Amino acid sequence: MYKKLSITNTGYLIDVRQTPLECPYCHKSQIPEMQVAFLKEDGTYFILCACMNSNCKLVFNVFYDHSTRSFHQVKQADLKKKDFNEEIELLSPSFCEIYNQAYSSEQMGLDQITGAGYRKALEFLIKDYLISLHPEKEEDIKKKFLGNCINDDVNNSHVKEVAKRAIWLGNDETHYVRKWEDKDVSHLKTLIDLCLHWIESEIKTKKIIEEMPG
Ligand SMILES: [Zn+2]
Repeated sequence: MYKKLSITNTGYLIDVRQTPLECPYCHKSQIPEMQVAFLKEDGTYFILCACMNSNCKLVFNVFYDHSTRSFHQVKQADLKKKDFNEEIELLSPSFCEIYNQAYSSEQMGLDQITGAGYRKALEFLIKDYLISLHPEKEEDIKKKFLGNCINDDVNNSHVKEVAKRAIWLGNDETHYVRKWEDKDVSHLKTLIDLCLHWIESEIKTKKIIEEMPG
């Protein structure tokens, strides 16, 4: 629950020292126009501010430090994260981390590097999957080109066929010349989702057979 406080309400002491801060949109340093303050149950405050730059005028939230009576920190929006199934989190924590970094860059509109991030995530997924199946070949798999790993070492035909195509599109994201002109990052993501689906199914199938030997 939040309590809404008027900035001018002297009954509640929102007495802000006039310390300048930077607008998170236009990055002009300023004392913004404070519109309304909110008191949280834990005793912290945040203040809705409007940028004073007439070319910007966007509003943003600033945390207020009551003990020093000063602005504490501009609150940035949180980006969405993709949750992966337990099987994938255990198989490749690096994949999950890299995928979510690529997803963050996608949400920020960084379209020139997003695809390369997904391509890197795919490499960790496939290599960690192969290493889990063939731990004795770990060093070999780590050094090998991803395309060769898929051709030589992936036996599951579903994984092989979707991973191969994911690589084609992934390489397009990192190379100067694009081969698959009618395909983009959304298709790469679909192929990564399919890889995840088949890898998860394989792990779950193996587990249930182990639990219920025939
Ligand atoms: Zn601004």
